[in-house]
This record gives sequence, structure tokens and C-alpha cells, in this order.
Amino acid sequence: MIDILNLDYGELENFVVKELKAPKFRTKQIWQWLWQKGVCDFDEMTNLAKKLRDELKNKAVLTHPQVDVVQTSKDGTIKLLLRLADGALVETVLIPMESRYTQCLSTQVGCAMGCTFCNTGLMGFERNMTMSEILGQVLAGRKYLQDNNLNPLKNLVFMGMGEPLLNLDNLIKSLKTLNNPEGLSFVPRRITVSSVGFIKPLEILGETGLTLPAISLHAPTQELREKIMPKAAKTHIDDLLAAMDKFPLKPRERVTYEYLLLGGVNDSIEHARQLVRILGHRKCKVNLIAYNPGDRPLYEAPAREKVLAFEKYLWDKKITATIRRSMGQDIKAACGQLKADRLDS
Ligand code: SF4
Repeated sequence: MIDILNLDYGELENFVVKELKAPKFRTKQIWQWLWQKGVCDFDEMTNLAKKLRDELKNKAVLTHPQVDVVQTSKDGTIKLLLRLADGALVETVLIPMESRYTQCLSTQVGCAMGCTFCNTGLMGFERNMTMSEILGQVLAGRKYLQDNNLNPLKNLVFMGMGEPLLNLDNLIKSLKTLNNPEGLSFVPRRITVSSVGFIKPLEILGETGLTLPAISLHAPTQELREKIMPKAAKTHIDDLLAAMDKFPLKPRERVTYEYLLLGGVNDSIEHARQLVRILGHRKCKVNLIAYNPGDRPLYEAPAREKVLAFEKYLWDKKITATIRRSMGQDIKAACGQLKADRLDS
């Protein structure tokens, strides 16, 4: 049995023609049912003949992730705990932004990178998610918003559980499917992929032209990066920055470097000065995030005045910097807090 949501458009066309022995034009109809309308059952594909629907049922499965737990934060952030077909649990987060929502997506069950500030890292790595599972989060998130008469889903960020570039094939397949105008229709500027950065996968991603990743830098020197994200730092900071210098940019695009401020670790003006030293001459901007300690802190939160002083220092040195507003802390939906542990949620 084939997982139909795991087929890209070309693969679906092959399946329609070769396995279902149906005319090619059925591909578009099935694709629209799957991705535009988000049906959960082949019988809902009412413009297909019953014979074709039966044929689909015999040869394919159509499974959406099951929403196990929904938690809503006092700031309106919604966290969905999703159960995948094999029972694995992942989390996805819907973040309210004015008249729309942004969804934070996971790409792996757990994560192998073990960044010292991240709860997902503590889980260890279980497995990669398929395209069906990655985009199943979008189908589940969009449906939840529609069913509850909430604002529409407009933006996606790959910043949930897992390191997207370590699941590159499924990431690329997912990005292509997201772009399809007959399906979910998310244009690249509405999608952000966040990565700690690996040279070869960055090169491959650059060649696809599908997205400009945001790089989780989090330290201004190789030495400090090795301390707080030891596995990611196996890619030397100089090589990582050089790889991003070569990344193909569209006019007016700039690389985003994410910098998580950890209290007393990387949040001083000296660190800001070191950051300017490596980024000052580069076409980039910096996204500052204040660490969320939660109830089992791995680090201390940075003092508010230090965050503001850090931002100001970057602006004074002509680096565009923004402080990302942290959402959903009370339901552990904020950056670095996703864990998919039902008992712990
Ligand atoms: Fe993995 Fe990202 Fe967490 Fe690092 S920050 S452990 S790469 S999920």
C-alpha cells in the first residue's frame, strides 16, 4: 500500500497512470483533494468515479496525523501534539500574528544534534519524518484553525523538532509540494527553514532555489559554539559563514543569522562586539531570541536590559537586528521547548 501523501506531483501522476490505469488528468483532481481541500477519505473525492475511488482504496492509504492533545497559551499560541501512524509523537505550534497564523513545523522525531539549550536535543534522535508526516502537520494545523473559525494559516517556519538539513530529501520534496499552486500553495517567501548549517546540504539546497535558510549561529566564536552546540560546531564557524556567503540570494535578500541569548553565556557587549567582527561586512541580519527557561531550565534567561543593549550595539554597528517575541512559553511551545512528551506537557 502506498502512502498517497508521500508522493510528489510527478510520482502521483505515475501512480495514477501506471497503477490506477486512469487518465493523466485525474492527477490534478486527486492532488487538489489531497492538498487544497485536505480530505481524509478517498470517498470524499466526489468528482472521481466510484470504481476509481475503490481502486485508490485498494492500492493506497490516506492518513493524517492524529491530534492527541491541544494546548492553548494565554497569548493565543496553540500547540498540537500529533501522533504519527507508527505511534511516534511530534509537536507543531500555531503562532498568532495579527490577522494570520504562522506554523512551526517539525522534521524529525527527536534530534541528534543535542544542542545544550534545547529540550528536543535532550530527547535524542528517533527517526526522520516523511513528507507525508511533515506536511501532515500543515493539514492538521490548517484544519484546526478552520474548524475553530480562527485566522488563516499564512506562514511556515521549519523550526520545530529536528534539524531540517539532516532530513534533506524529505525537506526538499516537502518544499516543492508546498509551492505547488494547485495544492497548499505556499510561496517561498512565506516559508523559513532554520538550520544549524551543514556545508554540503546548504550547497544542494542553494541549487534548488527553493528557500533561503536562516542559520542558527548562537555564538560569535568557534570556541563558544563548541560549548553550547558541540555537534553543530563540527562545521567550523568560518566554513559555515563562507558557505552562506556563496548561497545564491535573490535581489534584496539577506541571510538571517539567529542568535539565542543565554544569560551570562553569550549575551555581553563583548559577545556583541565579536558578532560584529564576523558579520559586520556580510549581507545579513540578526534575529535575537531571548532564552526561555521554562520550569526545567538548562540555562538562565538573559536580563531584558542586556537583550536591548545587545540589539542596540548591533544597530549602532549598522547590523539590522530584531528581537523575536517569544510566544507560548506557558505551554512549552516556545523555541527550544518542544519535547513531545505527553506526560511532561
Ligand atoms: Fe536539534 Fe534544533 Fe534543538 Fe539543536 S536546537 S537540538 S538542532 S532541534
